[in-house]
Amino acid sequence: MKTPSKTLTVLPDETPENSSAEQLIDALRTKGFRITKIRQAMIEALVVASQPISAPELLEQVAYKHPSVNKTTIYRELDFLADNKILSEIDILDGMKRYELLHPDHHHHHLVCTSCKDIQCVEVPHHDLHALEGKIQQTHNFTVQSHVLEFFGLCRKCS
Ligand SMILES: [Zn+2]
Ligand SMILES: [Zn+2]
Ligand SMILES: [Zn+2]
Repeated sequence: MKTPSKTLTVLPDETPENSSAEQLIDALRTKGFRITKIRQAMIEALVVASQPISAPELLEQVAYKHPSVNKTTIYRELDFLADNKILSEIDILDGMKRYELLHPDHHHHHLVCTSCKDIQCVEVPHHDLHALEGKIQQTHNFTVQSHVLEFFGLCRKCS
């Protein structure tokens, strides 16, 4: 078994203090949004998910409590939560977006297994990347505001 690289920090499974379901729901209420049962169930499902999940997976979770929910509602709610910076979308290039709660204090990247589609959230050191962004700024006269960087490969189980 390979030892994990010391420079990659795998984010803990437990949700950070500042993004418990209750606190997220409170934050939305403060902004004046109505919290429907479905909206609440989706946030709860995202909080307990151990990794980014797809819309069908979310639908399944929510339907467990609210059997009448449909796909259209789920997608509409996903848009709403993304617009309000509650969740972020991850494109792992298999035609199915995955979703996770946005962690404002934990800018991170993903290790995506191309075989079993397992997704690990990792924090990677950014010195090199910041240097690269500086270079892009200089040579292309382009102001970099953000970046998306996912790594594709095989997980421990699949390699
Ligand atoms: Zn980054
Ligand atoms: Zn795998
Ligand atoms: Zn993540």
